[in-house]
Amino acid sequence: MTEPRTFARHAPDLQGVRALVVGLGKSGIAAARLLAARGARVRAADRRPAEELGPVEQALSESGVEMIAGGHPPHLMEEADLVVTSPGVPADTPVLAAARAAGLPVWAEVELAFRFLRGRVVGVTGSNGKSTTTSMIGKVLRTAGIPGGTGGNLGTPLSTLLGEDGPDAVHAVELSSFQLEWVDAFRARVGVLVNFSPDHLDRHGSLDAYAAAKARLLDTQEPEDAAILNADDPESRRFASRVRGRHFSFSTRGPVAQGAGMEDGMLALRGIPGQPGPLSLLPVTSLPVPGEHNLANALAASLACALVGVPGPVIAQGLAGFEALPHRLQKVRSVHGVDYYDDSKATNLDATARAIASFPAGSVHLILGGKDKGADWHRLASLAGRHARRILLVGEAAPVIRRALGGVVPLEDCGTVQAAVQTAARTAAPAEIVLLAPGCASFDQYRNFEERGDDFARAVAALA
Ligand code: ADP
Repeated sequence: MTEPRTFARHAPDLQGVRALVVGLGKSGIAAARLLAARGARVRAADRRPAEELGPVEQALSESGVEMIAGGHPPHLMEEADLVVTSPGVPADTPVLAAARAAGLPVWAEVELAFRFLRGRVVGVTGSNGKSTTTSMIGKVLRTAGIPGGTGGNLGTPLSTLLGEDGPDAVHAVELSSFQLEWVDAFRARVGVLVNFSPDHLDRHGSLDAYAAAKARLLDTQEPEDAAILNADDPESRRFASRVRGRHFSFSTRGPVAQGAGMEDGMLALRGIPGQPGPLSLLPVTSLPVPGEHNLANALAASLACALVGVPGPVIAQGLAGFEALPHRLQKVRSVHGVDYYDDSKATNLDATARAIASFPAGSVHLILGGKDKGADWHRLASLAGRHARRILLVGEAAPVIRRALGGVVPLEDCGTVQAAVQTAARTAAPAEIVLLAPGCASFDQYRNFEERGDDFARAVAALA
């Protein structure tokens, strides 16, 4: 057997390299295109049958990529020098396991793209708040006139952001644990871990495996890089020992000596290299997004931007102009005095808890359920008991949630989001809240959380 090929960490020569792309979602398509553009002979395999891959085929039609529909059998790796995998493909999928066993390089799409990047990366990971924090960073960087893109796990894949690259570029890049499992040369000059809580245990198998994936963001840093951790989050402490660069932190509870904190109602930075003295940014009341969790995101984002050289007043200007992302605690509308909020992106209990806590005690008609991710619903009991008037259950997870929370709050099984909205509307009084913050994935009834949120909004519109 021949030795596996090795590749340069920067601008590897891919001419004639046999590349296998596993999974053809957005990032798989971007990876296949980049590989082909660099002269690789690309095969791309997806589990979906050929009939469903029409749009993918169209996207790749001019790239010369050979497409394989209906699966990615392990033998495909025997004819590959390099494998690029997608976040949706579990690490123990046979073709990936076989590739690893054979010593073949297996890269995430971000790893591939990074090797061709000339600018710097501000990388953001965590259990909740990645997209919001990444978007805030992107907004501030562009307000500062710094070239580069915003994307990664959120929106535009890093391969596509290469179009906005250059030696002076700074890219705001969201990274999921599924991407970080397969990085090596990838390096974030500033790495942000927004928080850490049990999530995706169905995919990673254990909390330690999930933590190990997140820690890759810090493991791949150099001593001159900066790591930003959440000082308020006990679960984040396990990562302190993994910091290889300079350690900064953020807290919503008070001043922070080396990082971002709160001082007299102002977001404030201290200990920024090249910035003698504290830097007062903006009052918390000027943040356009609600909740303590969004304050945490804004503090983390401010710090990251200061560490790549954005001046304080520009950070303040960028944050003040930030707009909430769709389906993240987004107010849909008021109907008969009842406010309807779409937090369809709340797919785990931590995000659900944050959403509930953003509203007054006893005011919330809470829609929970969907595809359960193995969460411990008892953790929600005391908060739900205080804030929720009733819980409306939808989807597969209904029986599990009922067992955990049945004794705490009145529950009703509604089946669908549409039915849950109608039921909530019948009982909610003016000034109360109907909140979709389901604490579950959407895949039992929808293609994604966006469709679930849109369905909610349609149901609300139909009430008016
Ligand atoms: P991610 O990209 O990590 O999923 P998002 O910014 O899309 O994060 O937010 C996901 C969900 O988590 C939303 O429901 C949002 O309201 C909630 N959320 C946002 N920031 C935080 C945070 N810092 N801590 C806990 N929950 C958060």
